[in-house]
Amino acid sequence: MLSGPSGVGKGTVVAEVRRRHPDVWVSVSVTTRKPRPGEVEGEHYLFLDDEAFQWLIDNDGLLEWAEYAGNRYGTPRAPVEEQLASGNPALLEIEMQGARQVRSRAADAQLVFLAPPSFEELTLRLSGRGSEPADVIERRLAIARAELESVGDYDVVVVNDDVARAADQLVVLLTAPPPA
Ligand code: 5GP
Repeated sequence: MLSGPSGVGKGTVVAEVRRRHPDVWVSVSVTTRKPRPGEVEGEHYLFLDDEAFQWLIDNDGLLEWAEYAGNRYGTPRAPVEEQLASGNPALLEIEMQGARQVRSRAADAQLVFLAPPSFEELTLRLSGRGSEPADVIERRLAIARAELESVGDYDVVVVNDDVARAADQLVVLLTAPPPA
């Protein structure tokens, strides 16, 4: 599982993983957030309304879910279970509460923290993205601060100073046998 603060470049690193290693399977999450310009239904997310999201929760359709900055996000259970049952690794790009839920149930799940080179760099990237209003950015930075403080909960830290390098490191971790 890949987690890390908003704006750190998780989406970019995952896109690079897909580009360089098309064989790596990446989970597509469901969310109640509205699509950003350029986001494709079924590729970046499945965009659901509150009712449909709630239906999935009630019917045990999600492996984990969490509320993040006013929206809900979750991992559809069946595709991940099918993937793991076939003996292949699955990459989940999710925030920390969700990652902890998965971790508590699947002890062999590896938790990777994608860290920014620095907090200043993260602030710059998040403001520079221009996709969110100032209050949303503030909210995401506050969450990021808390996430950076609990970096010790993770199995591995990958610093996103170079997208290609971070993507390669992630693929090595995905395909390497878990530590004994
Ligand atoms: P964004 O709105 O920027 O796409 O995502 C906000 C946060 O939600 C990010 O930290 C992202 O990793 C997380 N996220 C995306 N999908 C999921 C999911 O299925 N479950 C959980 N728990 N978090 C998710």
